[in-house]
Amino acid sequence: MNPRVTVWNEFRHEKSDPEVAAIYPDGIHATIARALGEHGIEARTATLDEPEHGLTDEVLDATDVLVWWGHLAHEEVSDEIVDRVQNRVLNGMGLIVLHSGHGSKLFRRLMGTTCNLKWRESTDTEVLWNLAPGHPITAGLGEHFIIDQEEMYGEFFEVPTPETLVFVSWFTGGEVFRSGACYTRGTGKIFYFRPGHETYPTYHHADVQRVIANAARWAAPEYSAVQKFGNPGPIMVG
Ligand code: ZN
Repeated sequence: MNPRVTVWNEFRHEKSDPEVAAIYPDGIHATIARALGEHGIEARTATLDEPEHGLTDEVLDATDVLVWWGHLAHEEVSDEIVDRVQNRVLNGMGLIVLHSGHGSKLFRRLMGTTCNLKWRESTDTEVLWNLAPGHPITAGLGEHFIIDQEEMYGEFFEVPTPETLVFVSWFTGGEVFRSGACYTRGTGKIFYFRPGHETYPTYHHADVQRVIANAARWAAPEYSAVQKFGNPGPIMVG
């Protein structure tokens, strides 16, 4: 079954930078949601400036997997919404964090590290090598794919060691980066996927779209588990 996806975007660059608006006239979120639709996945969108950042309990009740893109306005995301989304992930909601979302309050909270890295906006080509053939996230991909121009992200990337490392990127400047990384927090699955700097048409790239669609299917909760905490009496009586 296909997951119900919500694509969240801070949606600021597209409003203030004509170069970005030319690439994503309806916003990065709209481009990703449309691509998911073409892969048969129902996707709605939510943005920072909506009430509750568009992430009301009603929206999250209807969300199996949340996709997150943010950059300029990480600190404008309220702690209340970070708490709410973290709690959803711990209880099984899937989360796909894209590109500069590495610096979001939400991702840093879930990782427990700084999530710092190196970066350079230039003319680097990115080659993403598939390290997990047979993994659901790489379904339909070859052994590598290429993004002609992207921002460079370089190691060291201060995150916990991924449970599965799906992609490593090489850049023409010589750097490498762990660009596709799987984690579990509580019962929720998390995938960090590196590409997607706002001034490049990365989310129009067919293989990038395929990875996000595959990741949405992978991250969807398979069943709901009721977790009980606290101070119960013994289960054996008498
Ligand atoms: Zn960027």
